[in-house]
Amino acid sequence: MAMSEFEIIRRNFDGRGIDRSDVVLGIGDDGAVVRVPSNCDLVTVVDTLVAGVHFPHDTRPEDVGHKALAVNLSDVAAMGAVPAWATLALTLPHADEAWLSAFARGFFGLAQQYEVQLVGGDTTHGPLTVTVQIQGWVRTGRAVRRSGARPGDVIYLTGSVGDAGLALRAWQQQQELSAADGEHLFSRLHRPIPRCKEGEALSCEVTAMVDVSDGLAADLGHILEASGVGATLNLHSIPLSPSFVAVTGSGKYYLNEAERLRLALSAGDDYELCFTAPAAQCRRVEELFSNFECGCRAIGIIETAPGLRLKQADGTLLSLERTGYEHFAQEPGNAGT
Ligand code: ADP
Ligand code: MG
Repeated sequence: MAMSEFEIIRRNFDGRGIDRSDVVLGIGDDGAVVRVPSNCDLVTVVDTLVAGVHFPHDTRPEDVGHKALAVNLSDVAAMGAVPAWATLALTLPHADEAWLSAFARGFFGLAQQYEVQLVGGDTTHGPLTVTVQIQGWVRTGRAVRRSGARPGDVIYLTGSVGDAGLALRAWQQQQELSAADGEHLFSRLHRPIPRCKEGEALSCEVTAMVDVSDGLAADLGHILEASGVGATLNLHSIPLSPSFVAVTGSGKYYLNEAERLRLALSAGDDYELCFTAPAAQCRRVEELFSNFECGCRAIGIIETAPGLRLKQADGTLLSLERTGYEHFAQEPGNAGT
C-alpha cells in the first residue's frame, strides 16, 4: 500500500465528524471508552458489506460509505434504540486516496446527520470489505424484540418496498430509466435513509419490530417465527413508490401484478421498519407518523395459525417462490445485510 495504515486513519478518519460529550476516549488508543447513560441498556449491532455481494463492484465510494453506516443504523432503529458510537473495520485492495476520501465523505455525511461518532476501527489489506459496528442505547428493558407479536396485532410498514430491488435490476441490465425515476430508485439502492427517529418513537408503542433488509416476506417471517404466530398480508395495501409503479407499469421493466408484488416482497435492501402493534395502539402509531415524512401503512394482521398468507385484492392467495436473500443458499446477486 502506498499510504501506511496509520496515514490512512490519520487522513481520513481520525478527528472527523462530531465530537460527542459521552466519548471519553476515541480513535488512537487500543480501545475506545464511552459513557452509557444511566437507566439505559447498551444495544450493539454489526453488519458487513462485501464488494460484489452486498453492492456492485462499481458502486461509488461515497455510496459505499453511506450505505455501510446506514444498514447498521437501520438495525439500531429496529431495536427502538438511539445510535451513538460506531467502529469501522475496513479491508482495502489498495490505499487509493481518492476512493478513501470519497468513502469517508459518504460515511461522515450520514454520521453527522444521526449524531454518531466514529470511535475506532481496524484497517487491513485484502478484498474490499466494510464492517461497521454501532452502539447505542435504549431505556432499560425497552429494546424492541422480534418475539412480541400477538394474534390480533396490526402489521405496519414504513415508507415503501421494492425500489432498491428494481434499481438493482436496472443496474444489472444496464437499461435506461427516466431521469426522475432513475434518481429516486438508485438513491433508494445506494443511499438508504435509516428510520432511526421513527424506531425510537415507536419503542413504547409496538410489540415487535424488524428492519427490512432481506425482503419484507423474509423479515416479517422472522417476527412470525420468533413470536410463534402467523399472519395475513393484504397485498393491495403494500406501499409502492410512484417510481416503482411507473417503471413496472409499462416498457422494459413491465411486470404484471403478481410479479410486481413478488419483487416488492422479496427483493430486499429496503431498510424500512416492519412492526406490529395491538389494535388499541393503532391510533397512537398513526398519530406519531404524522410527524414523519416516510409515513407508515397497516398492511396486515397477526394470526394464531402459523405461516404467512399473501391475500390479493380478489381474495385469492399469492405464492412466493423465494423470500429474500440468503447467504450460502443461492448465487450472489445483491444481498441484503
Ligand atoms: P491496534 O493495533 O491496537 O489494534 P490499530 O493500529 O489497528 O490499533 O489502530 C490504531 C487506532 O486507530 C485505534 O484506536 C483504532 O481503533 C483506530 N482505527 C484503525 N482503523 C480505523 C478505521 N478504519 N476507522 C477508524 N479508526 C480506526
Ligand atoms: Mg492495540
